[in-house]
Amino acid sequence: MKISDDILRFKSLIQKTELKLYYFVLPSTLAILSSLLEGATVMLLPSLLQAILTLNMNALDHSFIFRWLDPVFPLDQISNSSKFLLTVSFVFIGSIARQIFQYGALVSSAYLVRTFADRLRQAIFSRCLSFNKHFFDATSIGYMHETVNYPKQIAAKLLEAQSVMIQLLLTVVYVTILFYISWELTLISLFSFFCTYFSLRWLIFKIKHSSRDYVISQNELGKKIYEIFSCIPLVKAYSRETEEKKNFSELSRQVSLFEFSIDKKWLLIPSIQEMIQLLSILVVLSAMVYLVIHGEGADRIAQYLVFFYIMRRTSASIAIINSARGAFATISGPVEAISKLLEGTSPYEIQEGDKEFSGIQKEIHFRHLNFSYPGNPNVLQDVNLILKRGETTALVGPSGAGKSTLVHLLLRYYDCPQGSILLDGEDIQSFTNKSLRKKMALVSQDIFLFHLSLRENLLYGLESPVPEGTIQKVLHQSRLAEFVRGLPSGLETVVGDRGIKLSGGEKQRLSIARAILKDAEILILDEATSSLDSVTERLIQEAMDELVKGKTVMVIAHRFSTIQKADKVVYLENGRVLEEGKWEGLLKQKGKVYEAWKNQKINVESL
Ligand code: ATP
Repeated sequence: MKISDDILRFKSLIQKTELKLYYFVLPSTLAILSSLLEGATVMLLPSLLQAILTLNMNALDHSFIFRWLDPVFPLDQISNSSKFLLTVSFVFIGSIARQIFQYGALVSSAYLVRTFADRLRQAIFSRCLSFNKHFFDATSIGYMHETVNYPKQIAAKLLEAQSVMIQLLLTVVYVTILFYISWELTLISLFSFFCTYFSLRWLIFKIKHSSRDYVISQNELGKKIYEIFSCIPLVKAYSRETEEKKNFSELSRQVSLFEFSIDKKWLLIPSIQEMIQLLSILVVLSAMVYLVIHGEGADRIAQYLVFFYIMRRTSASIAIINSARGAFATISGPVEAISKLLEGTSPYEIQEGDKEFSGIQKEIHFRHLNFSYPGNPNVLQDVNLILKRGETTALVGPSGAGKSTLVHLLLRYYDCPQGSILLDGEDIQSFTNKSLRKKMALVSQDIFLFHLSLRENLLYGLESPVPEGTIQKVLHQSRLAEFVRGLPSGLETVVGDRGIKLSGGEKQRLSIARAILKDAEILILDEATSSLDSVTERLIQEAMDELVKGKTVMVIAHRFSTIQKADKVVYLENGRVLEEGKWEGLLKQKGKVYEAWKNQKINVESL
């Protein structure tokens, strides 16, 4: 990977965060001012030193201050002590002002870096949210967590290297002054600087390599942490704590090794720089001695001392720049990972139109619908189905038949071929996803609850405030009122991660209550397969009856009562619709539905 690739990637990330040019103006201006002031104060040093060494204040006449002052205040009217005081004051005030500008430059660039990281994090988050479910099927949550956190790591390294702009400017100023004092010595010094630059190239290349390995291992660790904590009951039930600790420590060790591998190389940078600089100092010193002995004369000693001083400062600036190169190399992996996620059009983007979906007048039509998952072809094959407005359609069929896939396509979790789902004759893809989902409510057997209070979970996603009276009515309709009354904190009770503190039946009724509150005209229900006690079952059924009143309903049905009450029953097998019609009619046909019912009959009757 070339350095230019990294720079291009970084540039494109800056563009993605839409940081305007003016964000860079203040830090750059302050950095330039600070460097110019440093240059100005340093420029005074040769004459000041010369004056002190020779005890002759006339040496100060050559400094730029007095060359500028001469036309206004002729030099012969300024006393020697005033000249000295003026020069020393300029050096002192200049140094203070320089520190103030430098601080301003650092603070404003820190703000720039923090804003960049913040916007980058937001861009990653909203990009992930815009993806379809294929992305979430293929990507571990641990990985996503790590990726959303990369901007923080990038910002930390950028802050470490934030003075690089000042140091670059200072280097230019210093080198200009060095040339001014002695071009021969400057060329010798520059040679050493280039040696440092090139000798560090391979090291920086190695750091980048380790940075990419680090990203991979860090993602694996993130994945593991998420897996284990989200499957704690499974880990405990199978007593896998020891094995999981071992797996975790291997991954954790791996991450530390890659981090250490980066540290080892990164820490080598100052030593290499120090060695080359020492060599160049010795060479420059020898050259100075040679020049003094052969012709330049002792009167240049003051200048050479200043040359030596500036050369040391230049070396320090270059050392900071080289460290910054190393810092950039360590974030090369995260930058690459973020670029891949943000760049270009992704196969995970959902197509959507710009029409506002205002609701169903007539029907939802699945027309010759075919669908495959990556690596799992023909999950739905030529599905033709019409759901009339206000009717309930029950999907039945064996496990893996494609029932959930069908409802996921209606919810636009995945893209389907154009023209295969029509809403009142209009392709589903011509509507905005937001307007579509506003008109749909999902009650799934996987109930998603946040680690928030019952109230917050209940009201999640509602756009306008809901009066307390309505909430109480909905609690009553969803048969939750009594349960909530029995809780010491009532609706303010926090439900735990994914509602861990609630029973299966309570979670389902909460999910139904949420759907009643949303009052969407299309209802998508995935009935729970797990058997509940008869009281809970009755409560859920009553809540469901309240929910479906007057709605267009598509239900993945597992309950006999739901199937019986449905306006239409659709039997799916291997992704194909094999039977369709009224429950009684299908029973009379003595086909697949009849067979399935016969096999399940004993279970159903025992309820
Ligand atoms: P069940 O009643 O058991 O929930 P189902 O009828 O709802 O089953 P689907 O969940 O739609 O069936 O699955 C249909 C097929 O698609 C199955 O073979 C399943 O393995 C496969 N499948 C489901 N989701 C994915 C996915 N995200 N990626 C790949 N294959 C998938």
